[in-house]
Amino acid sequence: MKAIRVRQFGGPEVLKLEDVDDPVPQRGEVVVQVRAAGVNPYDTYMRSGNYGANNPSLPYTPGSDAAGVVQSIGSDVQGLSVGDRVFTAGTTSGAYAELALCKREQLHPLPEPASFSQGAGIYVPYATAYRSLFQLARAKPGEFVLIHGASGGVGLASVQFARAAGLTVIGTAGSDAGLKLVESEGAHFVINHRQTNYQQEILDKTGGRGADVILEMLANVNLGHDLKMLAHRGRIVVIGSRGDAQITPRDIMAREASVMGVFLWRVPPTDAVEIHAALQAGLRNGTLRPRIGLELPLASAAEAHRRIMEPGALGKTILIP
Ligand code: NAP
Repeated sequence: MKAIRVRQFGGPEVLKLEDVDDPVPQRGEVVVQVRAAGVNPYDTYMRSGNYGANNPSLPYTPGSDAAGVVQSIGSDVQGLSVGDRVFTAGTTSGAYAELALCKREQLHPLPEPASFSQGAGIYVPYATAYRSLFQLARAKPGEFVLIHGASGGVGLASVQFARAAGLTVIGTAGSDAGLKLVESEGAHFVINHRQTNYQQEILDKTGGRGADVILEMLANVNLGHDLKMLAHRGRIVVIGSRGDAQITPRDIMAREASVMGVFLWRVPPTDAVEIHAALQAGLRNGTLRPRIGLELPLASAAEAHRRIMEPGALGKTILIP
């Protein structure tokens, strides 16, 4: 099969399309014919060797999120048949490939309304959004949520979850197309995070009391300001950060606020069961609709890694084998 291989950490150019042996499923394993693979920002941190203890050993094939059909099944695998449509929540051999070896428990049914490209945009974005909003921030209907960076994978997933749950949603984006997309996916208010003094506009939308929950995609830039836009007993979940931040701790005290972090690779198994039940329900009832911004052939993985780090997100970046 063809697969993207990384033989040394570095820039996008280290992503090379190679011929590798087809995987063969052993006990408890399944091989999926990948129809689409999702590109997530963490794939780029890993590729550059900047993912700390979670750096893979070399060589490796990137990617945790794929969608496709079951091609072959090892022994002791229940509840799956050859030809079933599935999406992955992690793989053993990597998602940027024509075939992916997976543990049975990494596979989930891909409900019929979702395309394969949408299936490749489910796991990391939607599981992160659900965990942040409901398991960590304990967001409730009637509350204000600020989704700070709503035009990308996690942001749009958060908008859809929050809107369906009865929150008032304020979403930010950095381009006109991004703002339109965030609004069309359910945000009540959209604000451009590249505009000067946009924080005041956010406060005004909440009637001056601040957001109850903030989901933050770029904490190194925004955390200090976020603390000033938070309601009493407000909760911030730091989802993304690419550097250090300066904050005024008194802002936390004055609001009896909480700042939490999310790390998808640390979700306890019982919480993961809840997350996947929510994903299946939302995909089946139409509240969760992954939006695809860019589809590229698998051979263009390097281009996909360059593009995902540029401003102007419009949903997911997907690779097609
Ligand atoms: P993405 O699709 O690339 O989207 C990035 C988002 O950040 C876009 O909405 C972008 O908006 C926005 N953004 C850019 N500049 C911003 C600013 N100054 N203030 C607020 N938002 C800004 O990435 P993603 O998949 O949604 O992931 C978002 C972040 O969360 C990434 O850093 C990722 O690594 C992280 N993440 C963490 C976990 C975890 O477990 N902790 C899981 C998943 C993702 P425009 O492009 O419109 O400006």
